[in-house]
Amino acid sequence: MLAPRRNAQRQMDMAADNQDNIVIIGAGQAAIQAVQSLRAEGFEGPITLIGDEAYAPYQRPPLSKAYLLGQFERARLFLKGDDYYAQAGCELLVNTSARAIHRDVREVELEDGRRIPYGKLLLATGARVRRLKCPGAELPGVHYLKTIADVDGLQAVFTEGKRIAVVGGGYIGLEVAAVAAKRGLKVTVFEAMDRLMARAVSPQLSAFYAAEHEKAGVDLRLKTGVEEIGGHGKVEWVRAGGQTYDADIVLVGIGVVPCEELAREAGLACEDGIVVDQNAMTGDPAIWSAGDCTRHVGREGHAIRLECVQNAIDQAKHAALAMVGKPKTYAEVPWFWSDQYDLKLQIAGLARPTDTLVQRGDPASRKFSVFHLRDGKIAAVEAVNAAPDYLIGKKLIAEGTAVDPARLADTAIKIKEVMG
Ligand SMILES: Cc1cc2nc3c(=O)[nH]c(=O)nc-3n(C[C@H](O)[C@H](O)[C@H](O)COP(=O)(O)OP(=O)(O)OC[C@H]3O[C@@H](n4cnc5c(N)ncnc54)[C@H](O)[C@@H]3O)c2cc1C
Repeated sequence: MLAPRRNAQRQMDMAADNQDNIVIIGAGQAAIQAVQSLRAEGFEGPITLIGDEAYAPYQRPPLSKAYLLGQFERARLFLKGDDYYAQAGCELLVNTSARAIHRDVREVELEDGRRIPYGKLLLATGARVRRLKCPGAELPGVHYLKTIADVDGLQAVFTEGKRIAVVGGGYIGLEVAAVAAKRGLKVTVFEAMDRLMARAVSPQLSAFYAAEHEKAGVDLRLKTGVEEIGGHGKVEWVRAGGQTYDADIVLVGIGVVPCEELAREAGLACEDGIVVDQNAMTGDPAIWSAGDCTRHVGREGHAIRLECVQNAIDQAKHAALAMVGKPKTYAEVPWFWSDQYDLKLQIAGLARPTDTLVQRGDPASRKFSVFHLRDGKIAAVEAVNAAPDYLIGKKLIAEGTAVDPARLADTAIKIKEVMG
């Protein structure tokens, strides 16, 4: 990775021509943010957006929440209106897949063989779902949830009384489980680990959410990996932990893998994500990358790959700044949210298993937080229906303020007074 100062100089040189055309591969959250930021920063050259889906850029979070529940209009998913692209001087190519990058001549090769020259290139290819690998995993009735098309396919069978087997007790699986329970499906969640959302939240949160799902009638099977899916021409059962469960639908939510092949084949460094520096630049000074497909050194000095809207937006903003010669180090506090039932979970910062945990509020009130303290400072906060805790916690993480754990745990003291 480049030293920051040398890199900044290279970015200034690269930005010498503000008229260079910019090509963006991937037409999702990071891509549209980059377009907006490039224009806001005064970039006047042509922009081409290449997306392999049938749609203009849209937001994915509602797909597993209000949209699946039928309480979010499809039109609201789109991040910009249809007229935006022409107005912004951005050529949007949908249903178009990029298959190679020719760095020597600065061209992107499309699936149909066409070549598009670029002055600068942004890779915003996101991540694809990790596929389940067990016998029967390809049977009709096995679903994934990543795109509008996926939800459309699921909606057709997502009806009251159906039995749905959710594979994976992470965010996506649990959000779908919550919607399914609300819509009257019979839900079983299979999670291989011993607690829910184990990679993302504290044991307190896992236990709280397990109880909430069970209250809603969800059958939780922890420490239970799915071994086989079977049926006559379609899903009829799932075998897990040596037992057989009847199922009409299987929804797999077992994580994502970064779409890094284009970068890797073009000779760019990839380590479970396209490696970028704190200006979202790859090892090629004409190529940047932002969003789920990247791995960068976070504010704590470790290489991380983040899969969230915040990172897609902030990293794309930083890529755009660097592309126009105004590099600014990307060191934002990561944040995330999840909606399950009437519970809004908001998380800021990155927790570690060695953090000291401080609980604020009573889970029985369904409004509480868990703070992660490291060296006396807040490193992360998980807030359930407790937006002020989340907001102040995020601020304190950014500022690196030391807190008194006893005051933090005392709900008689207002959260904004805890630091005083
Ligand atoms: C169901 C669901 C719920 C989520 N909920 C939340 C949430 O509550 N909070 C949160 O913070 N995050 C959530 N996320 C994650 C969030 O949506 C992603 O982090 C975000 O979309 C990442 O943006 P991106 O631009 O990196 O990738 P994407 O938005 O995925 O866009 C990448 C695009 O590039 C396309 N592409 C890939 N390769 C090529 C190619 N070779 N040629 C052309 N196009 C290509 C892809 O098809 C895709 O359309 C959720 C994701 C899903 C799927």
